[in-house]
Amino acid sequence: MKLYNSLTRSVDEFRSVEEGKVRMYTCGPTVYHFAHIGNLRTYIMEDVLEKYLRWSGYQVDRVMNITDVGHLSSDADTGEDKMLKGARREHKTVMEVARFYTDAFFADCEKLHIRKPDTVQPATGCIEDFIRVISSLIDKGYAYLAGGNVYFDTSKLAEYYVFNKHEEEDLLVGVRDGVEEDVNKRNKNDFVLWFTKSKFEDQALKWDSPWGVGYPGWHIECSCISMKYLGDFLDIHCGGIDNAFPHHTNEIAQSEAYLGHKWCNWWFHVLHLNTTSGKMSKSSGEFLTVSLLEEKGYDPLAYRFFCLQSHYRKSLEFSWEALDNAVAAYDKLVARIAALKDEGGSDEEGKKALRDAFDQAMGSDLNTAMGITALYDVLKAPISDRDKLALIADFDQVLSLGLLAAAEKLRAKAPQQESDPEIDALVAARTEARKAKNWAEADRIRDELKARGIVIEDTKDGVKWKRV
Ligand code: AMP
Ligand code: ZN
Repeated sequence: MKLYNSLTRSVDEFRSVEEGKVRMYTCGPTVYHFAHIGNLRTYIMEDVLEKYLRWSGYQVDRVMNITDVGHLSSDADTGEDKMLKGARREHKTVMEVARFYTDAFFADCEKLHIRKPDTVQPATGCIEDFIRVISSLIDKGYAYLAGGNVYFDTSKLAEYYVFNKHEEEDLLVGVRDGVEEDVNKRNKNDFVLWFTKSKFEDQALKWDSPWGVGYPGWHIECSCISMKYLGDFLDIHCGGIDNAFPHHTNEIAQSEAYLGHKWCNWWFHVLHLNTTSGKMSKSSGEFLTVSLLEEKGYDPLAYRFFCLQSHYRKSLEFSWEALDNAVAAYDKLVARIAALKDEGGSDEEGKKALRDAFDQAMGSDLNTAMGITALYDVLKAPISDRDKLALIADFDQVLSLGLLAAAEKLRAKAPQQESDPEIDALVAARTEARKAKNWAEADRIRDELKARGIVIEDTKDGVKWKRV
């Protein structure tokens, strides 16, 4: 597989440290609010990467953290803890907020067919690991105590800016909140590993440590959780592009200082989902969730299809019109699959060529749009319907668009339903009456339909009717 690596800034042939096995780490959500569909774009593309690696024969071990402490309102270490902000907003405890939004996140993932990582670890469950690694960084001379906090000393590194050479720009990102500079820092980019002094004295979760009662910085969480479950060598680390600096840059600094060798070979960054007014973000308060899409009648899998139609290394602009186009294309694709019959012979060679084309597309820096084209090519190919269905099932292990299930549903729905505007109007009126709990009216309409020889049936997919 050829895959872009943010570290080398080039598309390289993917190799794992241990043959046949991939150790993959993903920055998990900060659980102070619902995930928005921008966050979920990142998780969808990471999911496709993981599934493609599995499909290609790798055994993948994937770990994700849950950020339930330490992520301050700026990605550098200034501002208020996001979790505390969430708790205050909802008049709940931090742990209640964390539990609620963690569950909500995985419920959204399920709707989008995003596989749950093999290991999911909330940061609050690993305080001892953070303390152990921070102590070692102090012993090794990479960290220092100042003004009550423990800082990582970036001047001790041969190279700090691993992803981006535009140092001035990075500096601006690091202090983008315009918060006054921390006078305890020896160097501008030093970052906090452990806080005991914060402007926010009401920090809800605090733990004892060799440096006083306090809480960990955000960056140390991912380094420690990754090393705890995946060991000293990581194959792929994933996240949205905003995580590259300072979060991932700092993760590399601490992990490699602690380990004394190169830590992660591949950095996979997904570009943002933007709205017309810029990056979709939780902190701006204006964002779309999966539930909102559902309320508006969209199938979450149509959103997944929308994401797969574009490349993960390009920003994607969201608009309702673009989503509607994706829905129309998805529905048409499902209808074409529903028209296939499970019959005909098997053409192994023909199937292999089509499978190779899909493999080639996905192996070209995860070109999902080309992968979908390879799927359309299956529908057009001179092979039997049975072979087509087998290939669609095969590709959908990676794409996870629920194609066969959606086609089955469509098939089950389609045949019985006749169309007659008058009957449809009566059925709709009965549904309205039932919604308004006007049972007498609903029964009256049912009787009227019966008198016309129409029987109605309430199913989970809505009301169906037939002539008897
Ligand atoms: P958070 O919950 O804020 O820690 O973010 C979870 C993930 O979503 C991280 O990998 C972010 O980089 C990513 N992310 C945040 N905003 C967007 C966006 N607008 N589009 C795509 N990914 C995003
Ligand atoms: Zn992380």
